[in-house]
Amino acid sequence: MARYRGAVCRLCRRENLKLFLKGDRCYSDKCAFDRRGYPPGQHGQRRRSKISDYGIQLREKQKVKRMYGLGEKQFRLFFKRADRQKGITGNNLLILLERRLDNVVYRMGFVNSRTQGRHFVRHQHFLVNGGKVNIPSYLVKPGDVVELREKSRNIQALSDAMDAVVRRGVPQWLELDKENMKGSVKTFPVREDLTMPMQEQLIVELYSK
Ligand code: SF4
Repeated sequence: MARYRGAVCRLCRRENLKLFLKGDRCYSDKCAFDRRGYPPGQHGQRRRSKISDYGIQLREKQKVKRMYGLGEKQFRLFFKRADRQKGITGNNLLILLERRLDNVVYRMGFVNSRTQGRHFVRHQHFLVNGGKVNIPSYLVKPGDVVELREKSRNIQALSDAMDAVVRRGVPQWLELDKENMKGSVKTFPVREDLTMPMQEQLIVELYSK
């Protein structure tokens, strides 16, 4: 899958929102968004011109896509899947994204960012229900147990992340057993669990054109 390899802080500045893509740095005074909260580039400090309806929808889609670290193709596949499900498509989309394994290990606090989560999942550092899973887009379900493999427990980046999770907390649909480096999925996430400001209806409108 194609992966964005550019500077990530400029994504937050473009979306005018802290997307928390850089782990610890996002909580420090080095955060580029806190320092320069205007769009990146030569004309970033100019007055923002009026944005069209299409532009508003596009920005919302880009924001969510970038937050979860997905490319356009993969994001669209998630959207199609959400659209086929019963219920409100926008809600379904966010819930599907939230159930991704790379997001779950981030939410549980095993890693500092979703990008790091994807990396460690890819390299088989996690077990799901006792089995190796190296697919970042694997969707967890209630009852699943995610744990760090025994041999990966002394990786410094992972133990540092475990210490840092206190700062952002584990959402209520997940449970973390920090001592045993294990987490479980209690329920499916619900829209209210997602505290980031997202207007998912705008994404539905964009893709329905
Ligand atoms: Fe965004 Fe984090 Fe960079 Fe701040 S430090 S701009 S929150 S990625």
